[in-house]
Amino acid sequence: ELHRSGRSKQEIYDETGSTLALNNVSFEVMPGETFVLMGLSGSGKSTLLRCINRLIDPTEGEIRINGENIVGMGQDELRATRRRKLGMIFQSFALLPHRTVLDNVAFGLEIQGVPADERHRKAEEVLQMVGLGGYGASMPGELSGGMKQRVGLARALTSDPDILLMDEAFSALDPLIRRDMQDELLDLQQRLGKTIIFVTHDLDEALKLGDRIALMKDGAIVQIGTPEEILTNP
Ligand code: ADP
Ligand code: ADP
Repeated sequence: ELHRSGRSKQEIYDETGSTLALNNVSFEVMPGETFVLMGLSGSGKSTLLRCINRLIDPTEGEIRINGENIVGMGQDELRATRRRKLGMIFQSFALLPHRTVLDNVAFGLEIQGVPADERHRKAEEVLQMVGLGGYGASMPGELSGGMKQRVGLARALTSDPDILLMDEAFSALDPLIRRDMQDELLDLQQRLGKTIIFVTHDLDEALKLGDRIALMKDGAIVQIGTPEEILTNP
């Protein structure tokens, strides 16, 4: 049980507790697995992903990464765990518009105080990995949506995290580009063997990318299974 995220009951959005965004959610993700969280808007997918990254705190429960419960961790320990284990990729890319592609990718390393030559070497390396070698000097505004998301992917890979958290990462892209990025992710997964937790509301995407899929409804997981199981037992 390398990566487990378990039991998180929560009322995080409302002190009065009228919004229970997640309720009795419990599951385990295996190393190297692509685990898809799928469900309609408002079903709790993003909240769950943000709990795993501890951008928000569950009011109850445990989230274990390599056996270590990250709920209740102090800020320093949490930051170190996030840096070493987790890479997050957003639908909106979250790139800094006035910095070059290379500086965007190297930004996390810069914050950690990694010297310029070393972080630039690392940034070049991950840009190559996502097929953007040679684009380091470009500005984000010059890139297409697909390329921007490759930059987002590269940025998440700089710390060589075990786990990638992807929140509707391809949902803003044109259909053809989106398909390219899905193929790219499958390919990258083959090569790097990352554990991926992928949020989407798109069934086709879930079936294509997921080793297993968790169907969410009203803050709960109503079914977990392989694509075959999900298709044959809806
Ligand atoms: P997604 O479906 O991609 O999670 P949403 O449209 O649900 O996106 O949410 C977009 C943003 O609005 C998120 O930051 C989310 O936390 C926030 N949000 C969602 N629902 C509410 C709500 N009922 N009240 C306040 N903020 C919300
Ligand atoms: P999804 O990602 O599946 O669209 P969310 O995790 O964004 O679902 O939302 C789960 C529930 O929490 C919804 O009822 C949503 O309205 C609520 N919610 C999400 N973000 C916020 C927020 N920032 N403030 C208040 N309610 C929120």
